[in-house]
Amino acid sequence: MKDAWGREIDYMRVSITDRCNLRCRYCMPESGLEMKCHEDILSYEEMLEILSVAASLGFRHFRVTGGEPLVRRNVVSFLERLSHVPGVDDLSITTNGILLFDMAEDLKKAGVHRVNISLDTLRPARFAEITRGGDWRRVWMGLERAIEVGFDPVKINVVAARGINDDEWEDFARLTLHMPVHVRFIEIMPLGQGESWADRFVPAREVLGTLMRMGEIRPVHVAGSGPAQYVRLDGAKGSIGVISAISQHFCSDCNRMRLTADGKLSPCLASGEEVDLSSAIRGGADREELIALFERAVLIKPARHCMEPCKKGEGMVSERKMYRLGG
Ligand code: SAM
Ligand code: SF4
Repeated sequence: MKDAWGREIDYMRVSITDRCNLRCRYCMPESGLEMKCHEDILSYEEMLEILSVAASLGFRHFRVTGGEPLVRRNVVSFLERLSHVPGVDDLSITTNGILLFDMAEDLKKAGVHRVNISLDTLRPARFAEITRGGDWRRVWMGLERAIEVGFDPVKINVVAARGINDDEWEDFARLTLHMPVHVRFIEIMPLGQGESWADRFVPAREVLGTLMRMGEIRPVHVAGSGPAQYVRLDGAKGSIGVISAISQHFCSDCNRMRLTADGKLSPCLASGEEVDLSSAIRGGADREELIALFERAVLIKPARHCMEPCKKGEGMVSERKMYRLGG
């Protein structure tokens, strides 16, 4: 599908739940979260119906996320069914990795091609602090297991944050020397319902500058790299990427659409406009009506987002919640 600005839209991010087994400080509040009730969340059958329409319209890449996607019951069989939908060429997940050790093999068998694991620190105590109690060792075991069962590439998403992990960027880069992982540094976005990390925003170029000082680095191409710029340390098995979603946005190449767990099509992470597929599907809409709603969502996709780095003193609280939109 082509949007009003001539971009080919073929990538669907699907948030299958707004629930999570962690409480990352920049993403969620510690308590008092307003979760969607069970009836508001699309069933897997409803999601598959919507996603098969998407695939018939030319969507080829599907990333399942959340909240934490692996906490939703029967997620493996959902992924397996999704992988068999004609047109679904590329199926991936984004996970915090807590449940990955036990599930990695089944996910691979289900037809998931790629896994992104979010991990902001290599230090267990720091991880527990950032995630409010998460067990770093479980994520690490999950990561090793994902490599072992043959996921390729395995990407690690690191939200670069001043005063939180800026003393670890080089350690993350060094991981790529002996592990076949792609470490991607991400800029903090002014989205979410967590604590304000405005003072912690780091532009991607600063991370790159730090890494450049480590030794010889050259640009590389990584399949499915999307908006990330990749570089590699000499002799490394993996690579390093930086994603400058805020400081140097890549909206002109954006090919994404998002489906929220409660059935809203969101054309842009930063835009308030959504198209309600849930009411349509529950009201008995046929395929043609769903196609018309997809066309509307693609047409209202804005040319670019207007997010700026979080400003000092401003909260992160936003109508747009990362755990709902799926990052
Ligand atoms: N729970 C899964 C996970 O953490 O990988 C999937 C959902 S999570 C919302 C997806 C990604 O969004 C994670 O890599 C997380 O670090 C990132 N994220 C959440 N809030 C963010 C923010 N305010 N700025 C930048 N990235 C954020
Ligand atoms: Fe959960 Fe992912 Fe948000 Fe962390 S970033 S609280 S793991 S949804």
